[in-house]
Amino acid sequence: MNRFFAGKENIFADEIVINKAEDVHHIKNVLRLKKGSAFIVFDSEEWEYEVELSSVRQSEIRARIIDKNRSFREPEIKITLFQGVPKHGKMETIIQKSVELGVSHIVPVFTARSIGKTGVKHERLQKVAEEAVKQCRRAFVPSVSKEIRFLDMIDLLGDFETVIFAYENEENRSIKSALKTFETKPLSLALVIGPEGGFSEEEAEALAGAGASAVSLGRMILRTETAGPAAIAMIMYELEL
Ligand code: SAH
Repeated sequence: MNRFFAGKENIFADEIVINKAEDVHHIKNVLRLKKGSAFIVFDSEEWEYEVELSSVRQSEIRARIIDKNRSFREPEIKITLFQGVPKHGKMETIIQKSVELGVSHIVPVFTARSIGKTGVKHERLQKVAEEAVKQCRRAFVPSVSKEIRFLDMIDLLGDFETVIFAYENEENRSIKSALKTFETKPLSLALVIGPEGGFSEEEAEALAGAGASAVSLGRMILRTETAGPAAIAMIMYELEL
């Protein structure tokens, strides 16, 4: 069934108003939905509404709420991906795949070896997350933060129950063993991934000092755009499936 996103201000007790030009156009002219057609609307905070189209106007569509459910797709564990800013274009791929795999929040981080900026407007990156949510039928739209500096990230790490730092030079401790040490499942986890050039030694030390456990993702060195999604899949396998 077709899925649309609506802000809370457009969701009322028994109806939902869709007024984003792009969505109105899609419903009217592309899908050509008629009065009575059913579709799904989700807010960005885990609720899904089954609705029935009730009126079509020039720039606004109204739909009656038939049913409301909490999305069952959201993982219990909230993963924040701190991603070393990669080369142009890769951030979009990383966001798309991470959202599909269940990430809750993405923070691009400038590290010593980050080469450029993300090269993409922040709104564009948030849009990529929204599109990925529609595709994978989640109801929660992960937020993409503006780029922050490495040391600002270090300050934020204390807010997480656990911090996993994927380090290309870690040979002994695997992510698997790190994920098996919990007595109770952590509900908030920070995952730190380096850019193409990896982490400097000083950064690795700063991360260790902030309580992050350095882990290996396996014997192969993965590209930065593979490492985050791969690690998220491993975390979900171990803690959610
Ligand atoms: N240029 C570096 C590799 C960087 S890979 C080198 O040749 O050593 C980019 C990032 O992906 C790393 O900083 C790390 O966070 C992650 N990564 C890739 N492969 C990994 C692995 N096998 N174990 C742990 N982290 C890995």
